[in-house]
Amino acid sequence: MDSPSLIRKTAADLRVPPNWQDFGGERRAFSWDAARAGMAGLAGGGINIAYEAVERQARTLAGKTAFRFLSRSGPARDIGYGELARLTARFANVLRGLGVGKGDRLFVLAGRIPELYVAVLGSLRNGTVVSPLFSAFGPEPIATRVNLGAGRVLVTTDALYARKVAQWRDRMPTLEHVLLVAEEGGGTAVPGTLDLAALMAVAGDECPVTPTAAEDMALLHFTSGTTGTPKGAVHVHGAVVTHQATGRYALDLHGDDTFWCTADPGWVTGTSYGIIAPLLHGVTSIIDREEFDAERWYGILQEQAVTVWYTAPTAIRMLMKAGADIPRRYRFPQLRFIASVGEPLNPEAVRWGKEVLGLPIHDNWWQTETGGIMIANTPAFDIKPGSMGRPLPGIEAAIVKRQENGTVTVVDEPDVEGELALKAGWPSMFRGYLNAEERYRKCFAGDWYLTGDLARRDADGYYWFVGRADDVIKSAGHLIGPFEVESALMEHPAVAEAGVIGKPDPVVGEVVKAFVSLKAGFAADEALRMELLGHARKRLGAAVAPKEIAFLPALPRTRSGKIMRRLLKARELGLPEGDVSTLEAGA
Ligand code: ATP
Ligand code: MG
Repeated sequence: MDSPSLIRKTAADLRVPPNWQDFGGERRAFSWDAARAGMAGLAGGGINIAYEAVERQARTLAGKTAFRFLSRSGPARDIGYGELARLTARFANVLRGLGVGKGDRLFVLAGRIPELYVAVLGSLRNGTVVSPLFSAFGPEPIATRVNLGAGRVLVTTDALYARKVAQWRDRMPTLEHVLLVAEEGGGTAVPGTLDLAALMAVAGDECPVTPTAAEDMALLHFTSGTTGTPKGAVHVHGAVVTHQATGRYALDLHGDDTFWCTADPGWVTGTSYGIIAPLLHGVTSIIDREEFDAERWYGILQEQAVTVWYTAPTAIRMLMKAGADIPRRYRFPQLRFIASVGEPLNPEAVRWGKEVLGLPIHDNWWQTETGGIMIANTPAFDIKPGSMGRPLPGIEAAIVKRQENGTVTVVDEPDVEGELALKAGWPSMFRGYLNAEERYRKCFAGDWYLTGDLARRDADGYYWFVGRADDVIKSAGHLIGPFEVESALMEHPAVAEAGVIGKPDPVVGEVVKAFVSLKAGFAADEALRMELLGHARKRLGAAVAPKEIAFLPALPRTRSGKIMRRLLKARELGLPEGDVSTLEAGA
């Protein structure tokens, strides 16, 4: 399917020559073995994420800023590559002093403060498995995850400990050490905890990297919980090869970039691309401690002269909702590439980027399970708005159909909807769901990893997201992807967000119902409802258009910003809400 609104790249878009210019040539020439050989590696033949990201880089970039932390409460704090190497060595020494070593599990519960980044990289350096948690999680989801991961150590702040951990401590029997960061003046003289700053102050700056092998477990990441109870995906040190390759191809990182990944490290994007990939490319990363604020964000793009920006559809929708007047007050001529992940990016949002920010937004697709970007729109290639792009070098994707006997068949023809599958074997592929072996096995059929997402591939090899397998609506013999319906509604000027579900119906199986939140200045009245129903029918045809539209002030979302259709459905049908541990507060 060729999109009439194709966004063509011109020479002006490419003033910085993209890392990936010859689509087929690069894909043919690429091999994971060669990519692996391009990493430093450890003396004994192993590989360690922190060694590649920090130790190796500090040798040549010691004085360069690795992370710049921004907050409302004080000046920016820069940490250079050399300082990061020293701090992570100290942190690893702190762990060694406590008898915490390779394979032990450490959780971090903190906002985007320097200590979180030091703890993650210091743990990796020590061979200790690390799992960053959303700081906004409540006590229950924290305890569930720490228990599932058998956490021995927790790094957190005085305030978070008091509010969310202290009373629950006896429900986390594996937790031996709590390292406290004095954050909000609460002090660290708290029984049962250790003062991290005090331990760091007396720890040595020298600490050899613990030898780790490519298959040693490095990170434990929980999925977003959009479709059900979050799963703990196991990732290994060898994943760093994918972090490097995808930083190069999908984010087009160049050594002189100033990069801003807006994701929190409590979600895999905030670790793979908020911590690891930018360090591998020796760039300076901007890290903002504060929550979303349109004015502030445009200010950051301007003041920090961000060149590459990686964000999410939910943030883009919020910027769109905030209107075009604010960006007009800011200038960010250095910005050269914008990418987005996490949810489908409506064509409307891609075009909005081009009009209001001066650059289109490049959608890319991946999952907690894949550990890194798999399918992407990248700087050199034309964009078909609404498509998530094409597979990166080293990634073989396909549309498959599941068979009764558990095998799959690959669909060769273009434009056929089916399940998106990836040929197993890229380095950052998850190695298991923690304590759920059976569930893990079910994700594979022969060589194929089955993603649980439905998509189609067009004749040019671009992939189009249709919906989660769980969210697809079956109505009068049609399979309807919610994304298509939501995108059509988003084209209407009144619509800020749309979430679409199938509502059981005795005649047609399911009818399409849409939940819509409006932009400021529009009234949720009957006239608008009729107008939206008409608009959708004209765009989609009667068979696919929603039969019902309900207005909500905001849609329920995960803390990583994804619309929770299962919750819209459960509430509509009066069913139990299921696991809501990742639900955004107040939603
Ligand atoms: P859970 O697995 O717990 O239900 P989740 O799938 O939302 O949660 P993540 O691993 O954070 O957890 O998200 C990956 C999913 O997000 C993908 O499987 C896909 O459904 C969706 N997604 C990510 N990027 C895109 C994109 N560019 N277009 C469409 N969907 C996307
Ligand atoms: Mg998932």
